[in-house]
Amino acid sequence: MRWQDRQDKVEASVYEAMNELADLLSIKIRDYPLVYWVGRKVQFKDLFTSTRYMPFAEQNRVYFEHHRRQKIPYYHHEARSIYIFKDMPIAVYEEAAHALHLMLANPSVKGRGNRDRLSFDILMEINGFLGARLIGSPLENPYNPHADWAQLTPESLVKFEKSYLKLGRTKSDFLDHFVHQQGYGLAECIHFAHLKGDIKLEFIRRLFTDRWLEKNSAVNKYLRLKRRFWPIDKITEDIKAARAKA
Ligand SMILES: [Zn+2]
Repeated sequence: MRWQDRQDKVEASVYEAMNELADLLSIKIRDYPLVYWVGRKVQFKDLFTSTRYMPFAEQNRVYFEHHRRQKIPYYHHEARSIYIFKDMPIAVYEEAAHALHLMLANPSVKGRGNRDRLSFDILMEINGFLGARLIGSPLENPYNPHADWAQLTPESLVKFEKSYLKLGRTKSDFLDHFVHQQGYGLAECIHFAHLKGDIKLEFIRRLFTDRWLEKNSAVNKYLRLKRRFWPIDKITEDIKAARAKA
């Protein structure tokens, strides 16, 4: 397929996924992100984001190169852009969900303490996974739900981090991994609660529209969700049952 055809196709499927999720959650879309299909030969400077969103160009470029190396799709909020590096329909759903959430709530990350920022990122991944699942993505949680990293003691978390860094990964990879492990794990529990009828779409809608602006509101929200849907030491009979059935 020619680059332009592929680009058009990827863009159309992102917008379609956003429309579908917005309809489902009764959300009005204010704006759509730019979508880039990044083929092998495409360079960052070819994308024109650097001129359109000048203040964030350098930050986005570093992000871009990092993700490109690993072919990990992402949504960059400041540049209002989605980058897709390989043919991966699953990526379209999740990045569409991220864009819908962040463009709507336009949440601020400024002035957040570390814990609040980390929790905010977890809430973001909850929405990415949950949104994708709601519109029929076959996205699987690649993290074993029994290995809840938040259950580790501070000492064993430090030990775990050290062994992780020994594999040649960075501190920010570690945090990113943690954020996804928690976000996906919680999203999976929330999704099953929804399928069982324990929570309504309205509950999920609020996850997409709340901005968590108050001090520590993200960390409080994360802990509340965690207590309710993925409590320590009581892991998800629902997930086991659903997996057995699948
Ligand atoms: Zn994500």
